[in-house]
Amino acid sequence: MLALWVAAGAVLGLIAGSFLALLTWRWPQGQAITGRSHCDACGVVLGPLQLVPLLSFLAQRGRCARCGTAIAPRHLAIELAAAAIGAALLWRWPGVDGLLLALVGWWLLTLIILDAEHQWLPDLLTLPLIPVALLLPGPPLSERLWGAGLGFAGLWLVGVAYRWWRGHDGLGGGDPKLLAGLGAMLGAWALPLLISAAAGVGLGLAGWDALRGRHVTGMTRLPLGALLAGVALIGLWIGPGWRELLR
Ligand SMILES: [Zn+2]
Repeated sequence: MLALWVAAGAVLGLIAGSFLALLTWRWPQGQAITGRSHCDACGVVLGPLQLVPLLSFLAQRGRCARCGTAIAPRHLAIELAAAAIGAALLWRWPGVDGLLLALVGWWLLTLIILDAEHQWLPDLLTLPLIPVALLLPGPPLSERLWGAGLGFAGLWLVGVAYRWWRGHDGLGGGDPKLLAGLGAMLGAWALPLLISAAAGVGLGLAGWDALRGRHVTGMTRLPLGALLAGVALIGLWIGPGWRELLR
């Protein structure tokens, strides 16, 4: 039974990832999100057989069937990431709870992609996450309400202080709203851990770039929102028992 849930998580993840790859590609460019997929090089509209996630990529060996142009690995990478998120969450939480968590996991993945690629956390994704997060299984409601409030206020104050100190914005406007949603999901006690882990990973990546003497990761600034959402994914996977792990 567990294997079935895991397989369902992976397959649904491939489908979700295929859609997310398109969404995160078209939305920032202001293109219509609906409409048939086409080859970016020759414009040929993809048939139903070429839209099957992962399989069509493998069957065509990563190339457009008409013009032979290599398909950007971005699409495949996002499909695989979404499949991994779905499989991991349903392995840990087989059942309806796991499906809900997987949906939120793919939601976070969307924010990670948009923040990493465009430094953009749209309100349309960050704000609805707050009430949805309150409905997920997790710590007591009071802790989550504190988490939402403190998460927002904390990062908002950091943003104000930075602007006052340096004279320009150092934090994106979407970061406090995202942290409010993550606080609502994991509770107030998770906030310090979430922020220090995200900062740690971010500094690690920046240090790696510096060591290699070039932009290995392609980051121009630390995508704080993407890092926070990435760490929150791990929190989602561990679940409400994370505090016991610290003992
Ligand atoms: Zn083509």
